[in-house]
Amino acid sequence: MKIAILPGDGIGPEITKQAVDVLKALNVATELVEAPIGGAGYEKFGDPLPDSTLDLAIKSDAILLGAVGDWKFDALPRDKRPEQGLLRIRKGLNLFANLRPAILYPELVGASSLKSEIVSNLDIMIVRELTGDIYFGQPRGIHTNENGEREGINTMRYSESEIKRIAHVAFHIAMKRSKKLCSIDKANVLETTELWRQIMIDLSKEYPEVELTHMYVDNAAMQLIKNPKQFDVLVTGNIFGDILSDEASMLTGSIGMLPSASLDSNNKGMYEPSHGSAPDIAGKNIANPLATILSLAMMFRYTFNDEKNAKKIEAAVKKALSRGFRTADIYSAGDKKVSCSEMGEAVIASLN
Ligand code: NAD
Repeated sequence: MKIAILPGDGIGPEITKQAVDVLKALNVATELVEAPIGGAGYEKFGDPLPDSTLDLAIKSDAILLGAVGDWKFDALPRDKRPEQGLLRIRKGLNLFANLRPAILYPELVGASSLKSEIVSNLDIMIVRELTGDIYFGQPRGIHTNENGEREGINTMRYSESEIKRIAHVAFHIAMKRSKKLCSIDKANVLETTELWRQIMIDLSKEYPEVELTHMYVDNAAMQLIKNPKQFDVLVTGNIFGDILSDEASMLTGSIGMLPSASLDSNNKGMYEPSHGSAPDIAGKNIANPLATILSLAMMFRYTFNDEKNAKKIEAAVKKALSRGFRTADIYSAGDKKVSCSEMGEAVIASLN
């Protein structure tokens, strides 16, 4: 197995190192090759996704990514900004299916912003389409309109085939879980998502065991806070999924706990924490590495089809938490406050 390691920017290198150390401790035969992306790619090669990095990602079986972005790159032209590296690698590898589990570990129930009876035992999966929608739709840009004033344009668009392939992924995941799938759209206002809803309904006939429901995105945002346990698997487009998955992350105590997988149609995947590069805490060795370590577990599950090692990593994370180890973002009085690297060591010590 060849794994591309793309640490990226901000806390990326710190958290990626912890996941790589866990991987090495598992003693699985892997070839690890590191390359720059995001601001690191721009600084080294003048491009947030250097050709050599994309080439490595194409030739690898899986990719482990830290995070990209730093405020110091905000003044760069848009195509040179770190986030473009991420959008381009997702598009370049056709990683259209983004899986974001939001699981609340019982040990962290106090870290959630909601009351324990509302969130305890929460375990939901958000399936987000990742390579279409308003983030990629053309035309886009800022131009001067006929009245001589500046106008910004982005275009929400989805083709039938794009909707179908993400729908199949979501129905398959629902089949493996509780057979409940909620599709999130804004079909009352947006034609793009009216089509989305029609296709979801059409495809549901191929999955008669799955109970398909629909919800408007504004209501979903509310219901995730009011009664998140009503959901099991949610499927939605790129922009709604971006926002809802960040909202769901807060239910689990910290965005530092949320892993993600982005898969192509052959289950080749890029694995990364759901959070960003956290420039405010970068270089301080205080970031939570668990989302990245849990992303590694997802790599074993979805790309390597190795449930044993996936469960082993997840159990070690749970054990480290139950032993009281907490990084600053999930710390409460009475816990053992640890650094990013100490949390990595605690997970490795809990592997057996
Ligand atoms: P962010 O996720 O980086 O940070 C939001 C807040 O969460 C910050 O207070 C940060 O300190 C905290 N945080 C995030 N991850 C943490 C962790 N592992 N442990 C402890 N605390 C953590 O989002 P932002 O501040 O909006 O964006 C910062 C940069 O990251 C921007 O340049 C943005 O474009 C980029 N970004 C990248 C990705 C990605 O690489 N996938 C995703 C989102 C944002």
